[in-house]
Amino acid sequence: MTEETKFSVLCSLLTWTQRTKSPSKKRSKFRKFLDSFCSDGNFFPAIRLILPNLDRERGTYGLKEHVLATCLIDALAISKDSDDAVRLINWRKGGAKTGSNVGNFALVATEVLQRRQGTASGGLTIKELNDLLDQLSLSENRAEKTLVFSTLIQKTNAQEMKWIIMIILKDLKLGFSEKSIFHEFHPDAEDLFNVTCDLKLVCEKLRDRNQRHKRQDIEVGKAVRPQLAKRVANATEAWKKLHGKEVVVECKFDGDRIQIHKNGTEIHYFSRNFLDHSEYAHAMSGIISQNIIVDRCILDGEMLVWDTFLNCFAEFGSNQEIGTYFDFAQNSECGFDVAFDILYFGDTSVIHQTLKERHEILHKVLRPVKGRLEILIPNDGLNSHRSAGEPCWSFIAHNVDEVERFFKATIENRDEGIVLKDLSSKWEPSDRSGKWLKLKPEYVHPSSDLDVLVIGGYYGSGRHGGEVAQFLVGLAERPSPNTHPKRFVSFCRVGTGLSDDELDALVTKLKPYFRKYEYPKKRPPSFYQVTNHSKERPDVWVDSPEKSVILSITSDVRTIDSEVFAAPYSLRFPRIDRVRYDKPWSECLDVQSFIELVHSSNGT
Ligand code: ATP
Repeated sequence: MTEETKFSVLCSLLTWTQRTKSPSKKRSKFRKFLDSFCSDGNFFPAIRLILPNLDRERGTYGLKEHVLATCLIDALAISKDSDDAVRLINWRKGGAKTGSNVGNFALVATEVLQRRQGTASGGLTIKELNDLLDQLSLSENRAEKTLVFSTLIQKTNAQEMKWIIMIILKDLKLGFSEKSIFHEFHPDAEDLFNVTCDLKLVCEKLRDRNQRHKRQDIEVGKAVRPQLAKRVANATEAWKKLHGKEVVVECKFDGDRIQIHKNGTEIHYFSRNFLDHSEYAHAMSGIISQNIIVDRCILDGEMLVWDTFLNCFAEFGSNQEIGTYFDFAQNSECGFDVAFDILYFGDTSVIHQTLKERHEILHKVLRPVKGRLEILIPNDGLNSHRSAGEPCWSFIAHNVDEVERFFKATIENRDEGIVLKDLSSKWEPSDRSGKWLKLKPEYVHPSSDLDVLVIGGYYGSGRHGGEVAQFLVGLAERPSPNTHPKRFVSFCRVGTGLSDDELDALVTKLKPYFRKYEYPKKRPPSFYQVTNHSKERPDVWVDSPEKSVILSITSDVRTIDSEVFAAPYSLRFPRIDRVRYDKPWSECLDVQSFIELVHSSNGT
């Protein structure tokens, strides 16, 4: 029955939910929808559309806004130079003819669609939509995707298409939390989802809201939502929070959270958002299967990339990047797994045992392989290194002083920070209540301010759509004595740190000097030295440095070698500390002084 329900019915629920403030009204309306339209107990077809980010039955669409825009342009058969096509492509930037929806792709698309689709619903059913979305995820090229969009457009109106686009982008912006949706569906739904990451199974197993489901434990082969860390400001706060506990302090590695499920010869690598990454198996080239000495287990850890050239961990930010790197590199020598926990061993889940007990099991189950597979088994106290020269990645702390010293050492080593864990704690799926605490350098040790010049701007999205919301800043090329700098070298992109009012004031001041430069037709002004990296390209350049403004920026003490920007180093997590209207443009920090600063802070 659900599947024959018209999609327009679900759209009315979504529109109503988005407009309504009261959480209890949202819950009861959702309940009514389930009772009326899923009375046969077939909940999955509708719920997968309401929680698209949790649905793993369908593959990925490979569609971000830009490709979506081109598919819609083709499906609507509109000219690429038309105002509407430009509007879709420039959804973030806006322009003279763009309405207030700029920055929100689904709304910009609705504006365009409204002019072409009638207001009457085309009668699409939930089943038809799911079939078409399956087809979309299976389509291999843009032409096939465009065909799906043509069919969708024929069978819907613009409002329905808006929701379909949001479903494809996996963000419905409902203001109705996943927790509430789960709770209203079934009181045990969230728990069951946390240990299975399987929305279909949750919908099928929990058809009867009045029948409670016995708490299920984790299983090999089913991804589990990971235990998470709560942020603290400094070592003292962390130490206070864990008062009286036995505490292990670990290095916070900067890679991808990875859950390794081994079941005989079958091995799965689940990322934090429960995607199964087969490319990791290739990157680990048999190391895991050869060195886990038990038939069935689940390991929790971090996957990193080892840079064989620089002899250190490569710097990567997110799942996708590491996955893409492995895919791209086809390099079977670069994967490096750090196992810091074990969740399942033999035939039983061990998440209910203490971390200390789990460490003991981990020690028995895994053979470390230098440079490829590490186990985080703590030393007792910071100074009891395993052997001279070997890095200390984890230890049982006896006082806050040790925590402080370890934290400083990780900063010097350019690691991401530290994690403190209560050794008596259980491992709990999706928990961020404070059994694990994280401390990262940027929260406590901003380096000295760097005075840099705004040389370009990037348009924002959402609230800041259509206006510059981030800046490309530059360092000066050191001028000859008693002269002003003549050239500026692109340095980093910075967006956070200013209040809305401060941002407005800065953008208003710079706006008269912003010039759009269309790539690749026009090059940036000659007084800027930039790279050809696409990530660096701002949407506008400041067309005269002497009219620009100095920003004082801070960052964690870690700098990154820069490929994207022209300066030899960039910053990690930069923030604007102050806008220096008082400081003349010519007093911008120069590249050489910055390099000296980097070297002196790294002790080289
Ligand atoms: P962040 O951006 O700080 O990583 P997050 O929200 O992704 O934040 P948190 O729960 O804050 O995740 O921090 C835990 C994450 O830190 C884990 O998901 C894991 O990827 C990473 N990590 C690195 N080293 C460790 C470690 N030793 N123990 C636990 N998590 C670690």
